[in-house]
Amino acid sequence: MTRRRWIANDWDSSSAVLTGQQALHLARVLRARPGMRFDVVAGERVWQAEIASATEEQVRFVLLEELDAEPALPLTLLIAVFKFDRLEWAIEKATELGVRRMVPVLARRTEKHLAQAAISRVERWRRIAQEAAKQSRRSQVPAVADPTALEKAVSLPPGTLGFVLSENARQHTLRPAVAAAADQEIAMATGPEGGWTAEEEALFNAQSWAAVSLGPRILRAETAVICAAAVLSALLDSW
Ligand code: SAH
Repeated sequence: MTRRRWIANDWDSSSAVLTGQQALHLARVLRARPGMRFDVVAGERVWQAEIASATEEQVRFVLLEELDAEPALPLTLLIAVFKFDRLEWAIEKATELGVRRMVPVLARRTEKHLAQAAISRVERWRRIAQEAAKQSRRSQVPAVADPTALEKAVSLPPGTLGFVLSENARQHTLRPAVAAAADQEIAMATGPEGGWTAEEEALFNAQSWAAVSLGPRILRAETAVICAAAVLSALLDSW
């Protein structure tokens, strides 16, 4: 059986601490006791660790042996906010597929009430990413940024290649574009249910994002997110 993996809330070079829900779950449901061993993620490193003390408020581990960490994909996804149930699903799946960071983006065609409610949802999205990272035994929990207006999110940090996914970019496919990316960081933007507006596509273009296609069929917004992450994993992870 694969050992469970926990995400440290706090750590130093020789110990790690779980608090909040994780401590409660470990202590109450799994009856944590000193001496029990689990895998603990501390920052981007993974350790086999032994429980030194356990209460429902705090479980303290001694870090015993470092385990191989799985690197995240060098991928930031800009996800235009769409219906929350589907968006949550997309965040979970993108986490399983290895993305490093997600930025919920408020696009022109993001429905008004969703754009307004997004800021109060982001903590929930972070918890979903954390749970999915544990479940898929990742070594890093992807960061979920605060919801950001597209005008702000669109500026690319140096050394990052930007790809905006567009169902209209039929002639430019993702595969050769990524093959040319070598070891660079990649940012990829997926649109809302109604797609990007022409002004938004122009904005991406002005900031040197390349418009690329995921093939000849129109995908729903959540499928585009998952497809983008899966294609990147197929191209960049060695499996
Ligand atoms: N405007 C479309 C729907 C947009 S699909 C319509 O006719 O209803 C939502 C988002 O998914 C798009 O903005 C785009 O980012 C992505 N997407 C969907 N299908 C795609 C494809 N074949 N190639 C690239 N991106 C796609």
